[in-house]
Amino acid sequence: MLEREMLETISANLEGVRKRIARAARGAGRDPDEVTLVAVSKMVEPARILAAYDLGVRAFGENRVEEAEGKLPLLAQAIAQRGGTAPAWHLIGHLQSRKSARALELFDIIHSLDSVHLAQRLSRQAAELGRVAPVLLELNVSGEETKYGFPASAAEHEATLVQAVADIAALPGLEVRGLMTVAPLGEDAEQARPYFRWLRAWRDRLAQRFPGCSWEQLSMGMTDDFEVAIAEGATMVRIGRAIFGARPTV
Ligand SMILES: *Cc1c(COP(=O)(O)O)cnc(C)c1O
Repeated sequence: MLEREMLETISANLEGVRKRIARAARGAGRDPDEVTLVAVSKMVEPARILAAYDLGVRAFGENRVEEAEGKLPLLAQAIAQRGGTAPAWHLIGHLQSRKSARALELFDIIHSLDSVHLAQRLSRQAAELGRVAPVLLELNVSGEETKYGFPASAAEHEATLVQAVADIAALPGLEVRGLMTVAPLGEDAEQARPYFRWLRAWRDRLAQRFPGCSWEQLSMGMTDDFEVAIAEGATMVRIGRAIFGARPTV
């Protein structure tokens, strides 16, 4: 695709997404500024990510450490050459323990903290780097076996979840900022609503039990369901296809 065409497409897509975010927020009586757009740039080449950067995107989401390792240094360099401020990189996909140190180096926030074991490793490594790493806890609110996250599809999961959060909240080097989930694929966005509502309910319960953590962030909503997520309280929406177009199928 011609460069100009690519820019125009991303520009028009972004404008549409931003409008839809603002409309959904206002429709829910919320300030659109409460919702951070995380542009999901997995499988998107650096030139198109830079185009989004030039159009004002300052938060990008990647789901794999290996892919980020290849792209992020190139992008950091290109952005530095523009004299621009660094965007925030969000890790949104499952993190294998053995890649935790690398993830800490590459990413500014991890949405996908899904085990106490991983939290312990990240805590140790963040402390070694003299850093405090912001994290969101990923909850599996649908109970689908294909999904990562702490089991949280039913009220009976509360005791184990509370224990896990107690263990994680006590760790140095990590700062819990809230929750993240991926809703099941449905035929229409409305089908995701109960899952988003359920995530928010967990957040409210955990906030009562653990007032020492912030619990401010609710990372939920993707291309097919972000407006519903915003209506249910999302503070971060992770949007890929609506900005960059369909990903190649592999
Ligand atoms: C790919 C991905 C997204 C973005 O999905 P789109 O449908 O392209 O908006 C959001 N969250 C996670 C965890 C993803 O892996």
